[in-house]
Amino acid sequence: MIWIFLGAPGAGKGTQAERLREDFGFVSVSTGEMLREAMRAGSELGKTVQEYVTRGDLVPDDLVAAVLRERLAQGNTGNGVILDGFPRTVRQAEILEEMLAKHCWQLCGVLYLEASEEVVLQRLGGRRNCPQCGANYHVVTMPPKVEGVCDRCGAELVIRPDDAPEAIRKRLEVYHQQTKPLIAFYDQRGILERIDASGEVDEVYQAVKDAVSRRWQKCLAGE
Ligand SMILES: [Zn+2]
Repeated sequence: MIWIFLGAPGAGKGTQAERLREDFGFVSVSTGEMLREAMRAGSELGKTVQEYVTRGDLVPDDLVAAVLRERLAQGNTGNGVILDGFPRTVRQAEILEEMLAKHCWQLCGVLYLEASEEVVLQRLGGRRNCPQCGANYHVVTMPPKVEGVCDRCGAELVIRPDDAPEAIRKRLEVYHQQTKPLIAFYDQRGILERIDASGEVDEVYQAVKDAVSRRWQKCLAGE
């Protein structure tokens, strides 16, 4: 059984997915991670991927899908798989749909974390990271004891390039253009669960858990 999280950057997909893994025995499958792994391993597939990356081109959807198919076919999928990084576009969702149908794999639910632009900007803009030990902080929700200094190792905290204001704008723009149409796509198929993601992590997780339990039952009943 396959699960997908949708939502803007900063909506909390990573945090919520982690909790689901712990509570439900799901595993995450990250297409980005698999592509990097293939390149490191130097397999045929990895070499092809490397060519695109070296040229600075996007890795084609079909190639990403092939990597995903291989991974799912290997088994070791726990009680369900949360897809990370795929699909990002409607085209990719169509490819995924074909692939799942062919292998009788079921897309059990699409969890859409809804948060306002304001909430998202506040979350992303407040992130701080320790370059030395990797600890993460947030100026509002998880501040260090001393402003700008890591609790664990005393290093000076930085803003990751990904979380700089210009990069945040770019990420949100890409999300609105490419990923948001997926919401309508999955809504039409009747498997979208809308979850209010503007609250505290625990509160959001309760709603996520309810949605997963609901969808899981429908899935088992073959609806
Ligand atoms: Zn540190």
